[in-house]
Amino acid sequence: MAVRPSILYPYFRAATILKGVGPVTRKALTRLLTPPRPLIDNMPYEPVLRDMVMHVPTSAVDRRLVSSIATANVGDVASIEVEVVEHRPPPAKRARLPYRIIVRDMTGALTLTYFHVKGDYLFKQLPVGEKRLISGSIEMYDGMKTMPHPDMVVPLHRSHEILRIMPVYPLTLGISNRVMVKLMSQALDLITALPEWIGEDVLKRQSWQGFRESLKQLHNPQTIELETELLPRRRLAYDELLANQLALAFSRQARQRTQSYKIPVKNKQALLDALPFTLTTGQQNVLAEAEQDLTSGERMIRLLQGDVGSGKTIIAFSLMAQVAASGFQSVFMAPTDLLARQHEKNLAPLAEKLGYKLILLSGKMSKKQQTEARALIASGEAHMLVGTHAVFQELVGFKKLALVVVDEQHRFGVEQRLQLAEKGLTPHILQMTATPIPRSLAMTYYGDMEVSVLSEKPPGRLPIDTRTVPFSRLDEVITGLKRALQQGTKAYWVCPLIELDTEKEDEELAAVEDRLRLLQTHFGDKVGMVHGRMKLAEREEVMKRFAYGEMQLLVATTVIEVGVDVPEATIMVIEQAERFGLAQLHQLRGRVGRGKEASSCILLYHSPVSENAKARLQVLRETNDGFVIAEEDFRLRGAGDVLGTRQTGLPDFRFAAIGRDTDLMVMARDDVRHYLSKDPDLSAPRGQALRILLSLFDYEHTAALLKAA
Ligand code: ADP
Ligand code: MG
Repeated sequence: MAVRPSILYPYFRAATILKGVGPVTRKALTRLLTPPRPLIDNMPYEPVLRDMVMHVPTSAVDRRLVSSIATANVGDVASIEVEVVEHRPPPAKRARLPYRIIVRDMTGALTLTYFHVKGDYLFKQLPVGEKRLISGSIEMYDGMKTMPHPDMVVPLHRSHEILRIMPVYPLTLGISNRVMVKLMSQALDLITALPEWIGEDVLKRQSWQGFRESLKQLHNPQTIELETELLPRRRLAYDELLANQLALAFSRQARQRTQSYKIPVKNKQALLDALPFTLTTGQQNVLAEAEQDLTSGERMIRLLQGDVGSGKTIIAFSLMAQVAASGFQSVFMAPTDLLARQHEKNLAPLAEKLGYKLILLSGKMSKKQQTEARALIASGEAHMLVGTHAVFQELVGFKKLALVVVDEQHRFGVEQRLQLAEKGLTPHILQMTATPIPRSLAMTYYGDMEVSVLSEKPPGRLPIDTRTVPFSRLDEVITGLKRALQQGTKAYWVCPLIELDTEKEDEELAAVEDRLRLLQTHFGDKVGMVHGRMKLAEREEVMKRFAYGEMQLLVATTVIEVGVDVPEATIMVIEQAERFGLAQLHQLRGRVGRGKEASSCILLYHSPVSENAKARLQVLRETNDGFVIAEEDFRLRGAGDVLGTRQTGLPDFRFAAIGRDTDLMVMARDDVRHYLSKDPDLSAPRGQALRILLSLFDYEHTAALLKAA
């Protein structure tokens, strides 16, 4: 095919081909661009041009207007020609104070302030007596106009670099927006034209440009209003959904052809008798649905949706027991090592009661223990295995693997299932998630799966008492907490997740650390802390002390969202709750209310709160029902407060957003159906282009499968 050479370009390594990428930038790019989909075979990730150009700006700043110091308004982004007057480094003993530089123009003086920046660098950039064009936001400090950390500083002959509408990119430590803009323009020049996969009629009807053209437009905003309805964004969102629907369609086809092991229902009564409680009607129904799949011989690929605490684990265990009764093996994949251990602790005795062996395989176990575990798996002596998702790589070592349970892992998608097939494995798959997705959306997201819904909770659960409290009443919250902890309860204290951003990333850390210090003054060593920048091992160590040890209060970022199950924890404090999405707040709140004691959730907010945020907190106060919350979430998003898909725990899209792009989703689904009916193996020219589309959006295995066909 003539298109072959050109598709190589998007896969060139950014670090190799772009000028000006040193080790620091390369590391930052890697961190920033790691694709939202799972990495194939856990190969180390290396950013390629494709990932660069798909990293689109989230806003834009108009820097064209040159103002003077006197006319620049506080709160504005201003670009000003100034002369450097004086450097005022902080006193040697107080390096934490800002480094100040005084500049002036004909209308007045302005202070530039820098934190954690070396003086020699600043001397080079802003030599005393020289003129510079600076751009940044204006603030008032001590009655003086200041510009904290100017965004850009250039000599006057390079003013064209500043005086434009500038895209603003999501960033991370080690890369500035200025560098990003430069690299991006190189990257966009290097991307070649790709064959078109959208029909001409559709392009015309929607007034859409080509893929490359659309990307270029998104990166070069002409106004500072980056509306979501922009044509190029919609085109790319459609592309993404098209790839998704295509992959789902092939997965469905593959599944219809796939037979799996026949697992008849055996010894059901013995199983029910062994369980520590009676299954609810809901649990029984879901179990029956899955049993039917297993009996049929056709491969089960089922999604079990059930709110946090709804009792999904025991359903999975029941199926695993039946698989064992037929002489096959099963594996339960938990999202964290700690959770895997907890499951093993709870479920191994149950298995034993039934005469089966359930063992743990964890990367944390000693080499010797791991070897022993593997031997038991290979010989078939172990009927059930519990491990983290990392053991996914090990699925080949089984004697007779017939069922894979995937818990709380949204990233185990079409591609991972295909990977299993490549290894010659076609086990039944039960995927479990606590993220409630309205039925209509579940169809599009998991279009190739059957869906079971567990809508009731085990009996005796008390609703979580949820209250909104202004931050100004922090003292009262702490006093209340003191009383509760004295009575032996455990509590979580969640600090907000701030977007990864050059400076803000440190701020996030500061927020948790600050809070820890404050709470330590009240609670001493009963307090611990976890956050995403800690080593996993360290984090789990703290979690363990909270779950089983003397620690009673856990200060955390959202890393605890899907994490440890501590039934004794009855209080959840969420700071700056107004900054979180609804789905996420609900997930966080679900960490409490898991035992018999009444639980409470305190949503601390900072005024003023936007109308939309107010509505979110209100919903949370009024209901504990995950499905109601999900529906409200989508409704509120529709109202314009786009929180991004990341917060929902759904598979991440780069351009498309649930709630917002439903029309494109439906369109993509119909187009795929229509197109495949004409060209089922994608062999026509447009079919070839669609293969390229699949690869572009990380459906490499689907694309590979087609190549083989
Ligand atoms: P999730 O769906 O969030 O994974 P779990 O499976 O962890 O929920 O169940 C939450 C708690 O409810 C567990 O402690 C479990 O033992 C308990 N549980 C589950 N089903 C029942 C039931 N039918 N009756 C009483 N308790 C139950
Ligand atoms: Mg669970």
